[in-house]
Amino acid sequence: MTYRITTSLFLVSLITGGLLAGCATVPETGRSQLLLVSPAEEMQLGFTEFEKLKKSVPISKDPAANAQLQRVGQRIAAVAPLRNARWEFVLFDKPDVPNAFCLPGGKVGVYSGILPITKDDAGLATVIGHEVAHAVARHGAERMSEGLLVQLGGQLLEQATLGRSEASRVALQQAYGIGSTLGVALPHSRGQELEADHLGILYMARAGYEPREALAFWKRFAEYNNKHGGGKHVEFLSTHPLDDQRIRQIEGLIPQAEMEYRKP
Ligand SMILES: [Zn+2]
Repeated sequence: MTYRITTSLFLVSLITGGLLAGCATVPETGRSQLLLVSPAEEMQLGFTEFEKLKKSVPISKDPAANAQLQRVGQRIAAVAPLRNARWEFVLFDKPDVPNAFCLPGGKVGVYSGILPITKDDAGLATVIGHEVAHAVARHGAERMSEGLLVQLGGQLLEQATLGRSEASRVALQQAYGIGSTLGVALPHSRGQELEADHLGILYMARAGYEPREALAFWKRFAEYNNKHGGGKHVEFLSTHPLDDQRIRQIEGLIPQAEMEYRKP
């Protein structure tokens, strides 16, 4: 109860302090969301964290793999409605890490460990489309908002304001799973996953990739998951639970995506 009261006070302080971004609507699915993080704030955090990652994680020198990422990435970027994006696609040299993310502002990181699973351009387009969809739908900001409430919810209002910038940085790292320790990402909610699948498959189709290949990718992903003990220690697997409902939804989206794919 006390927690609930301080949380409401915290929300009031954010609103009166002008920090609350307010209600937003996800493009295409039309779902409304309440966000405590403004687009400008999350974008600035995204840029800062991406620069740090580029300095601390080795970048792949494989010319073919880099060319593939630029080729596929730019095609997805051309069709994804990510406002004010400053697109950048970086391939990190981490053969044992099958992961990928898109930070606010269009900063996309792909770990080389996912390439054997994506296999070809359409497979990579599935992953990038899905990750970019999370960014367009501002799922990170939703999770950051939850993270901020957890971190700051119990504090006094003045302290909450003072601690906000550090708390925002921590919340962003957790929301995107880019903290120093792999595996600290908060799992995506099922609703966010299904929404990212929905938007992602439309983007890949509009970018000119056969949407059925999304299903083929997720099946390869499931096989990899089975071989690697349920994916408990694999970032992308632990944050992207694969189940029958998910596969069925992707199958159900294919006719709509096929129409987009065949549009002249
Ligand atoms: Zn996802």
